Amino acid sequence: MVDFKLSLGEEELFNKAKEFAHEHITPVAADLEKQDEYPMDVVQKAYEAGLMNLHVPKEVGGQGRSLLEETLVSEATGYGCAGLATSIMCNNLAFAPILIGATAEQLKKYVSPLITGKKVQFGAFCLTERESGSDAASIKTTATKEGDGWVINGAKCFITNAPVASLHSVFASTDPSKGYKGLACFMVPADLEGVEIGYTEKKMGQKNSVQSEVIFTDVHIPGDCLIGNIGDGFKIAMMTLDKTRAGIAAIATGVAQRCVDEAAKFSNVRRQFGKPIGANQGISFMLSDMDCRTEAARWLTRYAAWLADNGIRNSKESAFAKYFASDAAMQNAVECVQIMGGYGYLEEYPAEKLMRDAKLLQIYEGTNQIQRMVASSVILKENPPDKDTGFRYQYEGRDAPQI
Ligand SMILES: Cc1cc2nc3c(=O)[nH]c(=O)nc-3n(C[C@H](O)[C@H](O)[C@H](O)COP(=O)(O)OP(=O)(O)OC[C@H]3O[C@@H](n4cnc5c(N)ncnc54)[C@H](O)[C@@H]3O)c2cc1C
Repeated sequence: MVDFKLSLGEEELFNKAKEFAHEHITPVAADLEKQDEYPMDVVQKAYEAGLMNLHVPKEVGGQGRSLLEETLVSEATGYGCAGLATSIMCNNLAFAPILIGATAEQLKKYVSPLITGKKVQFGAFCLTERESGSDAASIKTTATKEGDGWVINGAKCFITNAPVASLHSVFASTDPSKGYKGLACFMVPADLEGVEIGYTEKKMGQKNSVQSEVIFTDVHIPGDCLIGNIGDGFKIAMMTLDKTRAGIAAIATGVAQRCVDEAAKFSNVRRQFGKPIGANQGISFMLSDMDCRTEAARWLTRYAAWLADNGIRNSKESAFAKYFASDAAMQNAVECVQIMGGYGYLEEYPAEKLMRDAKLLQIYEGTNQIQRMVASSVILKENPPDKDTGFRYQYEGRDAPQI
């Protein structure tokens, strides 16, 4: 049976996150982004409200919530401000490789202390390098075995929450000659000697999140900082992104919904030619398309999360969710600006920030071109040359593709 209704617990969490966003995010987000400092106060409140670290198992101090529940929180916080939602949900990304590959002992030692204290603490997911973005397998950071431990050298960039992080999940090569098969994933405590925060990126939007370089110079880590096995790194990175892309899709759904709501409200209020602008089909049809896109994004997102929660591989569906929802958010933001006319272009109105914030959703955690690569590689595998679709080609006597 297909059930589109959220359970009572899911509904309660969604409502709590929506109330939080209404009270603590939406009213302050535009002013906060002008202050150019980490929005610690709001993130601390989100932590205290139980809106972070949802997916970490109860046995190690987390809430043991589902990925679907995580997406509900991201949709609600994304509605308020995509940048703050990114700051709040970044631990989901940072801890995902550890949850995928680490033992219970490693989780207790490295993750529990970060999620059980009074003060919010952060992890950061360190994959991207200046020369290695979409082509994640080409990273140059190295991990060299030394005694029982490892020595990490290299530099990462664009790392969300890096300046406030206590623990980095770092992808590094243990044997460059092996390409992606030589990659491994490590936990690197941020207070170790040789870990340095470099340049902080200056961005177009999502200014309520922070990204920096992280530089590792002869950083000695103990042997139990290795997550899984040597050679598992690429697989762990891809499994991580399959999970967390639903979270980006959820933020995008929140942004897309906010665009609908702001544009529709404005369309009822703004009058030209003696009537509300929403009375014109040129505007109302746009609103219908915006809302339809948002609804489709929401269900692709929840489906991708539901698959992961049920242990079903979701590479294609999480890629679909990420690119569809972020394209929807971007298109809705552009149309929200258009519906508001000149006011849409002003800082005093919400649309310009929505447009700046939405753009990033099409880029981080894998650009939307890369999402289409991920999805299409699954589609091509699902349709091998000998697949029997029931149709018989009748090419006899003519030039024909070899089937
Ligand atoms: C604000 C922000 C936060 C981020 N947070 C993190 C983080 O926390 N941790 C982390 O590790 N990384 C993070 N990133 C990095 C992000 O994931 C990368 O920027 C992204 O994956 C793209 O890499 P790139 O910027 O190097 O672009 P490139 O890989 O250089 O791509 C440039 C363009 O070429 C296209 N392209 C590349 N290859 C192909 C192909 N084969 N086919 C078609 N088109 C292609 C891309 O789609 C893109 O349009 C963040 C980035 C930003 C901007």
